Amino acid sequence: MPRYDRDEIARRCGHDSWQQAVEATAHLSQQEAGRVLGVSHPTVRVWRAELGVGVAVARPSAAERKAAFLADPGDPRHGSANGYRNVGCRCERCTEAWTTYQRERRNA
Ligand SMILES: [Zn+2]
Repeated sequence: MPRYDRDEIARRCGHDSWQQAVEATAHLSQQEAGRVLGVSHPTVRVWRAELGVGVAVARPSAAERKAAFLADPGDPRHGSANGYRNVGCRCERCTEAWTTYQRERRNA
């Protein structure tokens, strides 16, 4: 679609340019934005991709999630055997939970 058509579409919806229309609808889903702007949702996707709007942020890696857990003493997984064994936390509460878990397993 040529750019002047994009701008024409945007102006019909009260925006100055298609770039502004994309930014003004960035909080909507592609389908919703398409409805508001009167274009198909794949068109919204293309426009957003060209502007870098709403491009999904990469999910944090396992290592990053682990680092976040270890750095957050308020994380509810602290004080659990899971925190000690699977996430590898060696804080006092996780170590204690692991010790208790092992003791209960031995006595079971
Ligand atoms: Zn812990």
